[in-house]
Amino acid sequence: MKRKPFLAGNWKMNLDRKSGVELVRALRDGVGGVGDRDIAVFPPFVYLDEIVRAAAGSNVRVGAQNLCDEKNGAFTGEVSAEMLRDVGVTHVLVGHSERRHLFGEGDELCNRKVVRGLAGGLHVILCVGETLDERDGARTEQVIGRQLTKGLAGVDAGSLERITIAYEPVWAIGTGRNATPAQAGEAHRYLRGVLSGLYDERAANSIRIQYGGSVKPDNVATLMAVPDVDGALVGGAALKADSFLAIVRYN
Ligand code: PEP
Repeated sequence: MKRKPFLAGNWKMNLDRKSGVELVRALRDGVGGVGDRDIAVFPPFVYLDEIVRAAAGSNVRVGAQNLCDEKNGAFTGEVSAEMLRDVGVTHVLVGHSERRHLFGEGDELCNRKVVRGLAGGLHVILCVGETLDERDGARTEQVIGRQLTKGLAGVDAGSLERITIAYEPVWAIGTGRNATPAQAGEAHRYLRGVLSGLYDERAANSIRIQYGGSVKPDNVATLMAVPDVDGALVGGAALKADSFLAIVRYN
């Protein structure tokens, strides 16, 4: 079964107000006729409000790169799910490898963020992925299985329609070295099996699993042809309208 493709662009800490708005306007104009796939961009927090307004009326959704695991209160510097919803944000990333590895976010914190994001009405993209050491040590399945299982702890089947999983091998992010279709297929199949064990086969088959890690216009179609690959989470190639549009329009 092929699920509706979901192509997402993570801007990370890049672009400024002007170039972000220009980019989203170009996407809005360029994806007008693309109705058979979901599209989202993930700008930095400070531009979300403006990017939501620039994307209004289009099929480009806007997500945040992070959120707080608390609802409100004395958490200086944090942003809640409710605040994101308040400015029209619909999606949020949790557990991106840069959050896990540069900012020390572990499975328990990621899980609290998943739960908070869902409670706040957001669609959550939970990112999982192994480092090169872990892959070389034949621990890929152990690591991504643990990140998935712990990340979804306490998430009931009724909330799964607002969950997407992103398999992002750490060694492929920003390196120009994408996983081969076989490697991506193997990991995605494994993750779907874990989902099936956590919920059931029907639920596992309905959840989209994006691949992320050096997705470019010239490799997206091959990766998307893999049966269990349902979308892409794109970093570098999402920063320019022409390359992200080429990815969104792959065939
Ligand atoms: C990412 O930021 O999640 C990512 C996959 O980056 P890149 O496409 O640049 O590897």
